[in-house]
Amino acid sequence: MTDSQLNVTFLGMCGNQTATHEATSLLFSADGTRVVVDAGPGIVRQVYRAGILCADVDAIIITHSHADHSGGFTYLTWSNFYDRLGGAEGPDTLHVYALPEVLAGLEANLRFAYNPATFQFGIEWYPLSASSVTSFSVGPLFFKSVPVEHSVPNVGIRCDYNGRSVSYSSDTTYAASFVDLAASSDVMVHEAFAGNSLSELAARTKHSTAAEAGRAAQAAGARRLELVHLFPPLLSKTQELSAEAAVEFDGEVNVPDELSRIEL
Ligand SMILES: [Zn+2]
Ligand SMILES: [Zn+2]
Repeated sequence: MTDSQLNVTFLGMCGNQTATHEATSLLFSADGTRVVVDAGPGIVRQVYRAGILCADVDAIIITHSHADHSGGFTYLTWSNFYDRLGGAEGPDTLHVYALPEVLAGLEANLRFAYNPATFQFGIEWYPLSASSVTSFSVGPLFFKSVPVEHSVPNVGIRCDYNGRSVSYSSDTTYAASFVDLAASSDVMVHEAFAGNSLSELAARTKHSTAAEAGRAAQAAGARRLELVHLFPPLLSKTQELSAEAAVEFDGEVNVPDELSRIEL
């Protein structure tokens, strides 16, 4: 790893927690800055397994309220405190980004469990727009969010650093807003909840098929597509899902292993 690299670690890549897999979550890191995007129930263990401490996290972005994306937020924040009890050092401030109603829920949940005034670090809460693009920086990482199409309000994310870019759809049907945000990304991380044979289930639950993910990557001009948020019964069908996406997308398609890392 060099300072000029943008790194993305797949802390989870599944549509839900299972006996062997964790819900989809990404760790962006570059030049000593670390940002967690989505925090499901297994997030604390996955952060440690990725080789860092919860106290090392500079910012947390929660895309939407569903517990496979938000359910570990309180515990991740608590574990930041706990790491420091054990002598770890970390940033003075934890920055938290989410849609306004999600932010309110996260803060209420945290206060229900613990008193953040007793933490060794401050927490800053930043609302993302539910209707337009929000731009913000965490250290040298530049982020944008945009509303996408899910069963509850949700945002897709783009991260740019040193001329490299990675976009993440979160949970969505094919969303033109996300395709625009992700234009010319080096890597598009797109949910692929189901394959063509379960397209009705994907549509009903406001998720994408692998083919729709391929269509989004093609329309955005992405170089590479990573399929995540798989319906658990499809974890053994990754080659089929990749093949269905590749029908729509000219670039490289992959289903990442949990805790694998992209270095750009
Ligand atoms: Zn969802
Ligand atoms: Zn989800």
